[in-house]
Amino acid sequence: MSDVIEETPEGEVITVRPFQTFPHVKDLVSDVSWNYEMAKAVAPIKGPEEGDWKFSQFEAKRAQEFRMCIECFICQDTCHVLREYKKFDVFGGPRTMVRMANFEMHPMDQEDRIPEIKDEFGIAYCNITKCCTDVCPAGINITDNAIIPLKERVVDRYYDPVKKIWRLITGEKVRK
Ligand code: SF4
Ligand code: SF4
Repeated sequence: MSDVIEETPEGEVITVRPFQTFPHVKDLVSDVSWNYEMAKAVAPIKGPEEGDWKFSQFEAKRAQEFRMCIECFICQDTCHVLREYKKFDVFGGPRTMVRMANFEMHPMDQEDRIPEIKDEFGIAYCNITKCCTDVCPAGINITDNAIIPLKERVVDRYYDPVKKIWRLITGEKVRK
């Protein structure tokens, strides 16, 4: 609160409200259990049977940013796709994207989550407004570092015309 008070012009009222996106329980308490359901639905990291666990500093740092998440769910509350449009059935929201990016970019991970990122978690619903990034207290660059790279992976898998033709010729499936 001290930061908020410092940044607020003198005389301006500071209003504290419960989340708008999630069911209100009492006072400032909301039921955020949906977020934990989403977290459980993300396939965990699947490492190789045998690995030497050597990877570059860049690879380690890239995933490390996502581990800063404190699960405050402010990003979920801010995202209009959830807050205004209530797309809980088709979109996982920014926090879920951060979790998936954390696993997807783990240097030893071998799980294939791209079909789920596209379908179950509905990454196409994000229109990159960056509101989630603006409010993240952990300073995670949600949009640029998590969502956009995941979108690129989906586009690369499903919408690359050369790969589409290749799949038509070879009968190769989209899930690797
Ligand atoms: S960038 Fe995407 S996930 Fe973030 S608030 Fe906007 S629509 Fe939601
Ligand atoms: S706002 Fe940041 S810290 Fe909070 S849940 Fe979202 S990603 Fe995690």
